Amino acid sequence: MKKIGIFLLSSLGLINPSIFGAMSKHIVDYRIQVKLQPETKGLAGRETVTWLNDSLVPVSELQFHLYLNAFKNNRSTFMKESGGAHRGFKVDENDWGYITVKNVRIRDGEDLTSRMEFIQPDDGNPDDQTVMRIPLAAPVGPQERIALEIEFEAKLPRVFARSGFADDFYMAGQWFPKLGVNQDGVWNCHQYHESSEFFADYGVFEVEITVPKGYVVGATGQRTSERDNGDGTASYTHYQEDVHDFAWTACPDFVEFRERFYLEDLPVDSEIILLVHRQHLNQKPRFLDSLKKGLEFYSRNYGPYPYQTVTLVDPPIKAMGAGGMEYPTLFTTMAVWFMPKGLRMPEMVTIHEFGHGYWYGIVGSNEFEEAWLDEGINSYSEMKAMDRYYGHDRSMVDLGPLKISDGDYHRLQFIPIFAWDPIVKNSWEFVSGGSYGSNVYSKAALTLKTLENHLGEEVMARIMRTYYERWKFRHPTTGDFIAVAEEVSGRDLGWFFDQFLKTAGSLDYAVSGIRSREEEEPAGFYGEEFLAPKPDKSGRDKDQDKVYRNEVVVQRKGELFFPQEILVTFEDGEEIREIWDGRDRWRRFIYRRPVKLKSARLDPENKILLDVNFFNNSKVLKPDRASPLKYALGLALKFQEFLTWLSF
Ligand SMILES: [Zn+2]
Repeated sequence: MKKIGIFLLSSLGLINPSIFGAMSKHIVDYRIQVKLQPETKGLAGRETVTWLNDSLVPVSELQFHLYLNAFKNNRSTFMKESGGAHRGFKVDENDWGYITVKNVRIRDGEDLTSRMEFIQPDDGNPDDQTVMRIPLAAPVGPQERIALEIEFEAKLPRVFARSGFADDFYMAGQWFPKLGVNQDGVWNCHQYHESSEFFADYGVFEVEITVPKGYVVGATGQRTSERDNGDGTASYTHYQEDVHDFAWTACPDFVEFRERFYLEDLPVDSEIILLVHRQHLNQKPRFLDSLKKGLEFYSRNYGPYPYQTVTLVDPPIKAMGAGGMEYPTLFTTMAVWFMPKGLRMPEMVTIHEFGHGYWYGIVGSNEFEEAWLDEGINSYSEMKAMDRYYGHDRSMVDLGPLKISDGDYHRLQFIPIFAWDPIVKNSWEFVSGGSYGSNVYSKAALTLKTLENHLGEEVMARIMRTYYERWKFRHPTTGDFIAVAEEVSGRDLGWFFDQFLKTAGSLDYAVSGIRSREEEEPAGFYGEEFLAPKPDKSGRDKDQDKVYRNEVVVQRKGELFFPQEILVTFEDGEEIREIWDGRDRWRRFIYRRPVKLKSARLDPENKILLDVNFFNNSKVLKPDRASPLKYALGLALKFQEFLTWLSF
């Protein structure tokens, strides 16, 4: 109803829909025409970009990302950091990629071409050309706009890291001169790094893409027109407001499927567009089903999906390096035709990459400086969605006796290498891609799940919803997330976030000792009296007279603390639940009972997923057979190698 009303009013010219309907402040406005040249793997482009100075101070230069230059040679910062490999895919040194700005001028004004200059704000590497500055003769005043006309040429690399080509498949991401984010007059415009994704401002994108006829095109936003140019090419125009980037793909071997997705009780009504490569058409039902689950889960738990389209791109096997990547309203997934049903990689990747539409797309997290706000929150969301739809104990792998949950998978990623870095840190300053992945994705996801277990599911759900609602179409920081968590929960959570987000310390509690010793009858000197020991020591005749001194010692082995529950069980079935604030290095509990201890177990409900060693969390007095949990974890560990390559 509402949508129809707006449409009628706008078609009568009564309102300007771009003002009325804007969900974000439109800082940027890009109008781009790009032509794909398949013979050279080149792009020829023209863009008009308008920028609003939304700060209170005049701004006297502009800064742009020229991210295809990450692939220009082997001395770019990305190539140096990565050694030319990304997620197991390697650069082809015969097929570099680059972008050249041929001409830039102020619309109807000064030619700025000679003013362009490469800068390297992060590492000073003179060979890196991924950021460009353009000093302006006259500054842009507060709330003023400047419009530039830019002509550029690009060549796509053979794809191994997100963007590029393979045969006649093309994935154009980070392909045009894109402005950085100006914050209070200062540009936030980082170089292209191995470990980091992206950050940009919201606005309007209208892009006309020209490709050989017969290519199937997918792109950010809605298609507003298409035409046959009569010269063997066709052009497709896409338009989207309230996004901060634009990506497109083209390939003659995509098969396109479209389906409406709507929810009756929420204002969600979008078109699902699947571009499935012919090689794995048999995976289409899995893509469609998991994308619907993602749309439903995120809409219900965080906020209704606000865009008219969502496009899933399934790259061919030769272009797997383009897989598992998010862009506004469009993402790439990953599958091969022989993927068994019980291995839920296509589902996990689909839900994860769709989910980025929320925590990178709609909430504009700065992935350079605080990547966990996207990857971590999104991995937590993915974990909850996977558990919800595929079973909490088998959401990732369900192959006969082998069952691995998404949470197990994140623990396997987290434990071996987390201790090198804290979660909150500049993305390019982690010791390795492994430490970045372990912390920013998995440890962050487990941190949020541990917080959920600590505060309760309902409180955590309100935190996430409030955070989304308050920060959508804006650029929050870690401090903003913490402020929402404290406000909604009504608790001081500084102790929690300071430890788990901001230090690399480890959390590990153990039951270090458990024993039951029979108390003896008094013997020795008691005042004036000497009591001789009884011949059978205990001096008692029958079992029921015995008294045991039962001791449990629990230990904090890691540097960090977390409140602990300890479940103490006795031979007669009695259970005692102890609470310990967990701050001292150890704590002893003593119980006098006519029976012995059976076991002591820390964190009996397994709430504290940040504890790096579950195996020392319990002790039984008489060694038992291996518990089913240990068996499952043991099996899971064997698959760790195999699972490592699934990390996105
Ligand atoms: Zn991700």
